[in-house]
Amino acid sequence: MNIYLIIILTAILGEFLLRTVVRVLNLKALNPILSQEFKGYYEPEKYAQSQEYTRMNSKFAFFTSSFDLCIILVFILFGGFNYVDNFVRELGFSTIPSGLFFFGVLFIASDLISTPFSVYHQFVIEERFNFNKMSYKTFILDKLKGYLLTIILGGLIISVLLFFFEKTGDLAWLYSWGIIGLFMILIQPLFTTVIAPMFNKFTPLEEGELRSKIESYAKSVKFPLSRIDVMDGSRRSSKSNAYFSGFGKQKRIALFDTLIEKHSNEEMVAILAHEVGHYKKHHIKIGLLISILHTGILFWLLSLFIDNPGLFEAFKMEQISIYAGFTFFMILYSPIELIISVFMNALSRRNEFQADSYSAVTTKHPEDLIEGLKNLSVSNLGNLTPHPFSILLDHSHPPILNRIAALRKISA
Ligand SMILES: [Zn+2]
Repeated sequence: MNIYLIIILTAILGEFLLRTVVRVLNLKALNPILSQEFKGYYEPEKYAQSQEYTRMNSKFAFFTSSFDLCIILVFILFGGFNYVDNFVRELGFSTIPSGLFFFGVLFIASDLISTPFSVYHQFVIEERFNFNKMSYKTFILDKLKGYLLTIILGGLIISVLLFFFEKTGDLAWLYSWGIIGLFMILIQPLFTTVIAPMFNKFTPLEEGELRSKIESYAKSVKFPLSRIDVMDGSRRSSKSNAYFSGFGKQKRIALFDTLIEKHSNEEMVAILAHEVGHYKKHHIKIGLLISILHTGILFWLLSLFIDNPGLFEAFKMEQISIYAGFTFFMILYSPIELIISVFMNALSRRNEFQADSYSAVTTKHPEDLIEGLKNLSVSNLGNLTPHPFSILLDHSHPPILNRIAALRKISA
């Protein structure tokens, strides 16, 4: 048996088993006794509901990942990629359009398979827990806008990469790295000004107590806030959030309308201060830098494997092509991706603690953030007791109780 096929099958099955074990451990870690910290925040019934939410999501994830596993195994073992490649080749185009068709067919197929699952998740599970605020119309419009972005941005990126790998020989990885690195920087302002407004309405936060509290806080930490927007998150979900966007001089904060509804002004300032903390501690810049570095390594490794006959043999391909090489390398690379994500999550959790601490120190009221985090966790039915192994593997944020404990140390 082909060595690449053995590696790939082991990796796919291994990851499935690992994730299943983690889900089971997570369910076993659910604690029916409410933590002292949340007494008075959770009614017993609502706490039971939050655990039911975790249970349902775990079951759903198990079901979808089992289904995906079957599909991908059948597709690999029966030479599905070769069928797609032969279909594309019959159209008789050169490398770039052939590659676009190849990825297009795979994208449409995987979207057709995953859409029923996302419909079920949104309109059955989220609906049952009163999170869903999305109409079918919004769902369909979101899909269409997503396709449009995939065609324009995805098409552009794939064309450029195929061009480099076809025409520039040994240095293709370096050119690809340069152009994609540039794209990763330019997408940030593009996201704020073009992409995000395609999906949501942003209106400046109206004059009033909240606005003046936020502005005086921003001034106190010398944060040049150019815009405070309210985002109509309630069009899709009753869950709430806040995020910081903008590069250079354009500092913008987007607050979900659902967040403003549920929190006091003091909590809002504390949550916003947490976001400012991410900026002040350079988390956003460092994250971007690491991603760009990672992309470079990725392209270099890709250049080593892209025309490896053994890899093509593993996928039962009759002919070698650059575009199929991209796909197969990404599948081969996925276990490394998993290991990297463990480190990235650990870094992200450290950043969350730092941003919390920044908020506590600069607002001088750690209690406000504690209060804000508790209300946020309750309204999003967050899992209070994730299993340590699940945190290690999947969590970009530390468990809420750990965050509260860390904040209490600051106030003590
Ligand atoms: Zn954060």
